[in-house]
Amino acid sequence: MATEHRTAAILAVGDEIVLGQSLDTNSRWLSQRLFDLGIVPVEHATVGDDLGAHAAAFRRLAERADMVVCTGGLGPTADDLTRAALAGASGDTLVEDAGALASIEAFLKERGRAMSPLNRTQARRPSRAAWLPNGHGTAPGLAGEVGACDVFCIPGPPAEMRPMFEGHVRPRLKPPTDRAVRTRALHCVGLGESDLADRLGSLMSRDRNPTVGTTASGGVVSVRLRSVAPGEAEAERLLDADEHEVRRLAGPHLFGADGETIAGAVVGRLVARGRGLVVAESCTGGMLGAMVTQVPGSSAVFRGGWIVYDNRAKVADLGVPGALLGAGGPGAVSREVAAAMAEGALRHGRDRDADTALAITGIAGPEGGSPDKPVGTVFVALARADAATDVRRFSMAGDRESVRRWSALSALAMLWMHLAGAPATRLLREIEATTGVSGTGA
Ligand code: ATP
Ligand code: MG
Repeated sequence: MATEHRTAAILAVGDEIVLGQSLDTNSRWLSQRLFDLGIVPVEHATVGDDLGAHAAAFRRLAERADMVVCTGGLGPTADDLTRAALAGASGDTLVEDAGALASIEAFLKERGRAMSPLNRTQARRPSRAAWLPNGHGTAPGLAGEVGACDVFCIPGPPAEMRPMFEGHVRPRLKPPTDRAVRTRALHCVGLGESDLADRLGSLMSRDRNPTVGTTASGGVVSVRLRSVAPGEAEAERLLDADEHEVRRLAGPHLFGADGETIAGAVVGRLVARGRGLVVAESCTGGMLGAMVTQVPGSSAVFRGGWIVYDNRAKVADLGVPGALLGAGGPGAVSREVAAAMAEGALRHGRDRDADTALAITGIAGPEGGSPDKPVGTVFVALARADAATDVRRFSMAGDRESVRRWSALSALAMLWMHLAGAPATRLLREIEATTGVSGTGA
């Protein structure tokens, strides 16, 4: 038994993960939880449903870390080998546990099901291991040892894995008491990772505490802070001090911390200002509306939208002048049409107190590009009741999915920078801004 859990390894089990048919989200979740508790994850490993490989992984990871959490392979079928692998790795034999058997029986009975011989195998455990109750499924977990390393085996389905970790693994953990580790993420839009790194300057030197790093994902750049201190309060204080500094350096680009999203931040600001938003979408086909309505409480500000994918819909639903779309006009993907879409949405949204409109039109690809408007050309327009329409031209990279996601995100980033008081900021992937264009001649 390890006297302390300073380090942990995580082992995901299952052919479906090794073959790429399902994504290992358990390891990610477990790493975050362990790290929050002050235990440093040092390795993620994945093995298929193979007894020898699984037992070997247990032995190898047991040499590397003070504890291992293994997920999956606790089901009732022949490919569920975690029980046998733990026994093999620890030189133990399997025995049937009467308490585990009773708990499986009770779980099944409550649901009107009878115990099958297969379910019965789930009551088996290495003789020196303990079983962990599962309130959400039949598979009991295991708490055993391989050498001096503590090994916890919990079910694969996340809905069983998480409560078992919280209820039965966490109380058995022994995080180091001489230090606390804390993390915080601060999210920014509208600037690149290297721009942000420039602003952060010496905050990013590797020998600082907290350490400060940046990561970029889908248009959002995050600053990740990690502090280590003798106690939690001190670790938090170090984070607070750096957060203050990061906020100062990132300025209006910074929209939120930890689990906050750009859509959530935009909705929060719109609520605070009592504004009403409508959207008009062509190439994103509703993604922007979906991102906004993902936010709880968005009903206070979101007044609806139009998916005007077809040019006739742009004309009929939003009053985009047909001349803009026809031969000799600038075409559907143009600053004029983006402006006309946003202004049309604003006009049509007036009856429900909308005063802010976002519109997106672009070429998501893979077809439809031309030399002057290649795939990835996207126009985003922001129209407001009290200001000139702002239209930006972007050049998005990547495949269709990526162009569409970046377009919706850039629309939110554009609105965020306006709400944050920095409307003139050039955004990531933006190649041209025009204010005061109007698609309607109004
Ligand atoms: P069961 O009793 O359901 O068979 P189990 O402990 O045997 O549970 P597995 O058979 O390995 O678990 O996986 C069951 C399901 O759990 C998988 O099909 C998958 O949907 C999910 N799952 C397994 N491992 C992971 C993982 N690492 N991350 C996310 N989901 C997982
Ligand atoms: Mg299974």
